[in-house]
Amino acid sequence: MISRRPLIAGNWKMYTTIPEATSLAASLADKLSGVMDRDIAVAPPFTVLSAVGKVLSGSNIWLSAQNVCWEEKGAYTGEISPVMLKETGCRVVIVGHSERRHIFHESNALINKRLMGALQYGLVPIFCIGETLAEREKNLTFTVLEKQAQEGLSGVALSDPAGLVVAYEPVWAIGTGKTATEKQAEEVHAFVRGLLDRLFTKDIASHIRILYGGSVNPKNVDVLMAQENVDGVLVGGASLTAESFVRIVRYQ
Ligand code: PEP
Repeated sequence: MISRRPLIAGNWKMYTTIPEATSLAASLADKLSGVMDRDIAVAPPFTVLSAVGKVLSGSNIWLSAQNVCWEEKGAYTGEISPVMLKETGCRVVIVGHSERRHIFHESNALINKRLMGALQYGLVPIFCIGETLAEREKNLTFTVLEKQAQEGLSGVALSDPAGLVVAYEPVWAIGTGKTATEKQAEEVHAFVRGLLDRLFTKDIASHIRILYGGSVNPKNVDVLMAQENVDGVLVGGASLTAESFVRIVRYQ
């Protein structure tokens, strides 16, 4: 069995003021300093990246952004460039989150541009894909994921599997308290690994980390992480308090 280093990532969404964010980051840095066998990342909002970056500097927690533009600079009102993110200490960025897809209508083509921009400037994208409840009920899960992966990863040449992370996040499980069962998650993750196999090489695909996201909490993380193709989790709500995120990072 191939071993992939687990990655536990927290998405703080549009939460935290500067004092809240720095205090949460300081608490995580303190409580997680001894964790060496897994990677940890947090994705605060843009306005607190710099402040959180300073708190996490020298810690074992990576700084992530929640989105990125593909250009270094220019007339892109409202956007943030990969170079600007790196300046704050970011090494990871979430791309194609379902809230970007569904609330802000980001298309696969746009997400592909963002992902290419991240890669070009040396940020590791956490590329999110996932089906809605209606799509799952119509048995379209695999079709939807295949299209999202093919179009979102179009033109990506990957020499190092650590340079890309994929997150399977069923839309019906995000922020709803409904989690995919471990069986559902493993079934989809194995399918996604097969897709990556076709898009890259078998060797690269077998080393790319595939995270599960959707109402992960301290109670369900252990069983999810026990699945062969679940290499980590992307956590929203439960990443906003040190107590629950620390427990998730310390899954057993
Ligand atoms: C997310 O924001 O990526 C997410 C999975 O949220 P939640 O854990 O709150 O469902």
